[in-house]
Amino acid sequence: MALHATRDLSIIGAGPAGLFALFYAGMRGASAQILDALPQPGGQLAALYPEKFIFDVAGFPKVLAKDLVAALTAQAGQFGQPIHCGQRVVALEEADGLLTLVTETDRFPSRAVIIAAGIGAFSPRKLPQPCAEPWYGRGIDPVVLEPQAYAGKHVVIIGGGDSAFDWAHQLQGIAASIALVHRTDRFRAHQATVDQVMTAAAEGRVAVHTFHELAEVHAEVHPEGERIVALELKDTKAKTTRRVPCDVVLPMLGFVSDLGPLGDWGLTLEKDEIVVDQTMATGRPGLWAAGDITTYPGKLKLIATGFAEASMAVNQAVHWIYPEKKVNPGHSSNLAVFGQKDD
Ligand SMILES: Cc1cc2nc3c(=O)[nH]c(=O)nc-3n(C[C@H](O)[C@H](O)[C@H](O)COP(=O)(O)OP(=O)(O)OC[C@H]3O[C@@H](n4cnc5c(N)ncnc54)[C@H](O)[C@@H]3O)c2cc1C
Repeated sequence: MALHATRDLSIIGAGPAGLFALFYAGMRGASAQILDALPQPGGQLAALYPEKFIFDVAGFPKVLAKDLVAALTAQAGQFGQPIHCGQRVVALEEADGLLTLVTETDRFPSRAVIIAAGIGAFSPRKLPQPCAEPWYGRGIDPVVLEPQAYAGKHVVIIGGGDSAFDWAHQLQGIAASIALVHRTDRFRAHQATVDQVMTAAAEGRVAVHTFHELAEVHAEVHPEGERIVALELKDTKAKTTRRVPCDVVLPMLGFVSDLGPLGDWGLTLEKDEIVVDQTMATGRPGLWAAGDITTYPGKLKLIATGFAEASMAVNQAVHWIYPEKKVNPGHSSNLAVFGQKDD
């Protein structure tokens, strides 16, 4: 197991709260690092909705989720502190005044820990049909990262929520054809997007198959290998089947999240969220929390609140590690760390 150098702070989660915490740690002169289970930073923004605009981040009239992640990563990156991706925290050990986060391969000792684990380690909910399993990663894409990857393709979207309808809307004009398959005629998506897709359906730009579910995946062997060419859909009411052309399946069935080991760390939990006080303290010495993972009266699960919580958590932790450093960071516009003279 690789043992990393001891740092002041280890941050669990590279979502917006964790990235901003990493920036704040650098600004306060604390050595820090992030550990995230996912292959890239950004948390929900990168994994669930990179191509969506966000309208309620202060200072941005609108910003693409992936662009906000890039800006947060650049802001945090100016202090050269590491973001360790692909590192799922599986345990916390405490000895000799240090807290050590343990992943499957590495150990990360630090003086304090900020938990910015969002909704926990999450993964897309899989299609229940066994016929789908062999095609994950080679024709079934549970997350859309780059819409242009579907240019000229026959796309079948399975689901009835926001993501299903958003992509049924956004892939028009890119994909060769779009079919949206849902097992009922009740949708959990924003009504305005449902209306847009239904209008497109009436105009023949999208096919909407309600009361249908996946029955079979049809594939053919091509020079580049075997690939999906069509899906067999079962009409759950009429008990008939229909075949639709398909190059790519996008199952948009939501995500399963797992608090994992965090639940065993002696923290006070309410519905899988960590109860914190007004200083973002968890109650366990050395552990603070920020972002979607926290709860307190009046909590809002928003990026804006996550930023504020991250700054509070880091400033408290820095003061706890180095009592001579004040909790109050002062104004960044005055700080020597940014080359300002009035520090
Ligand atoms: C479709 C959609 C649209 C949204 N639109 C908006 C919006 O317009 N405005 C807004 O304010 N909010 C919006 N949100 C909510 C917003 O994305 C969240 O509030 C925000 O992502 C929370 O940030 P976070 O840093 O707390 O957690 P997350 O973004 O969830 O990041 C947590 C990170 O922790 C990692 N992690 C968890 N457990 C472990 C572990 N054991 N080991 C290692 N890593 C771990 C995860 O992999 C993840 O990367 C939206 C959410 C969705 C799903």
